[in-house]
Amino acid sequence: MSDQFDVVVIGAGPAGYVAAIKAAQLGLKAACIEKWVDTSGKQKLGGTCLNVGCIPSKALLESSEQFAKAKHEFADHGISTTEVSMDVAAMMARKNKIVNNLTTGVAGLFKGNGVTSIEGMGRILSPTQVEVKNHKGELSTVDAKNIIIATGSVPIEIPPTPLAEGVIVDSEGALAFESVPKRLGVIGAGVIGLELGSVWARLGSEVVVLEAQDKFLASADQRIAKEAFKSFTKQKLDIRLGARVTGSDVKGQEVVVKYQDKEGDKEITFDKLIVCVGRRPYTKDLIAPGVDVKLDERGFVYVDDQCRTTIPNIYAVGDVVRGPMLAHKGSEEGIMVAELIAGKKAKMNYETIPNVIYTHPEIAWVGKTEEELKAEGVAYKAGSFPFAAVGRAMAANDTTGLVKILADAETDRILGMHVFGLHASELIAQGVIAMEFASSAEDLALTCFAHPTLSEAVHEAALAVENHAIHMVNRKK
Ligand code: FAD
Ligand code: AMP
Repeated sequence: MSDQFDVVVIGAGPAGYVAAIKAAQLGLKAACIEKWVDTSGKQKLGGTCLNVGCIPSKALLESSEQFAKAKHEFADHGISTTEVSMDVAAMMARKNKIVNNLTTGVAGLFKGNGVTSIEGMGRILSPTQVEVKNHKGELSTVDAKNIIIATGSVPIEIPPTPLAEGVIVDSEGALAFESVPKRLGVIGAGVIGLELGSVWARLGSEVVVLEAQDKFLASADQRIAKEAFKSFTKQKLDIRLGARVTGSDVKGQEVVVKYQDKEGDKEITFDKLIVCVGRRPYTKDLIAPGVDVKLDERGFVYVDDQCRTTIPNIYAVGDVVRGPMLAHKGSEEGIMVAELIAGKKAKMNYETIPNVIYTHPEIAWVGKTEEELKAEGVAYKAGSFPFAAVGRAMAANDTTGLVKILADAETDRILGMHVFGLHASELIAQGVIAMEFASSAEDLALTCFAHPTLSEAVHEAALAVENHAIHMVNRKK
């Protein structure tokens, strides 16, 4: 006898587990199937994000940041320390504890909300039946009125640099180094490459980032990207643009990486190499032959703007579908789909998904970049304000960067906000909320912001859209 559910979710990452909880909260009988188990066979919930992505990377970024502060900044505050050292094992144990707290927390949330958690690999046999093979190889089936695919993504491997135990690793391996590598190579100056490169650079690695594209952070606003590039270079992140990796040669405990740039063929030797060239949707063994869930040309599950696949009662959310590979994007899609299944009206605003890069300082943005507005022929106004003129940033010893706001030239509606600076990941929420509420730049300019805060840069950037910033003499126009 198989169990029957209103909703069966396949994958317990931030897209899937949130969808399952929301469905249960809306009164639906929900189950979530997850294949990830630890070495003892215990199921691990939370997907890439909680286990080997967002959370462990942020834990290590925080530890390495504290270390770098103690080493390089305490003296500015008049604090003297004896030798500052890093116990990598203790740092990793702290990270693992945070991961464990959160993943067991998801299990608790499932229990508390009445979601049935099923361990095993899910395979869609028909639009209403999912087969589950657990880690012992035992098979069972569940009946589903609706199925939500939330199987996520995995790192892309490239032929020039096949993974090699302990020497060439992907992002997961880079979150578990046992010591600080002396010479560290990173392929790809995307979000993950910059974050992981930052962690180990702060701890003392000589980091070289090889990036095939000539443009740094091509999808970010280019003024922000330029400021960030300057700042990262000062921090001794050696980012080589236009450098395409073509081969590698593992020799004992080191790797010789071959790459091409505009000067020709080059070689560089590292103790460890992290391959961060992007992620691809994961649909391996997911769909049985004869089930007409279509994939797009890049292997993503094809969905419409409400995450419906080509079969009416099968939905797909998160990294396995088009759009930015971000945990919060997947979670929002999960909530939308649960609401649709429960018979509610639901729609997602893909225009207001924030992007964050947790470097130091952080980079965050929402909406359009100046380059996109130009390309689309949209008439716009821009206002920006540097943290160098913000008292709170000075008090924090962290005055790098700026806030930039873009608004429609005619209606003044905010079209984008871009931040490079301390706590940009938190500040960007102000832009997201403003855009979600269809605010004008003037709405933000007329708002009272607490003093002294970093948020005052948001206020001043909004004022600067009409050339009215208070703490800036050298006005544009
Ligand atoms: P996943 O989290 O990948 O979860 C999918 C789950 O499905 C997995 O647990 C998998 O085991 C399971 N599964 C797959 N197939 C099956 C099957 N057939 N049966 C059963 N289970 C199955 N995003 C951010 O927003 N902020 C960040 O700061 C951030 N940092 C990151 C740092 C790193 C190093 C990495 C690698 C990623 C980071 N991301 C970040 C991206 C984020 O992790 C993903 O966008 C997010 O995890 C996607 O969620 P998901 O639920 O779609 O998929
Ligand atoms: P993201 O997609 O944001 O994770 O970034 C991955 C980055 O890796 C992109 O900027 C790619 O240009 C870069 N990349 C992909 N393949 C190579 C390669 N062979 N050599 C160097 N960089 C690469």
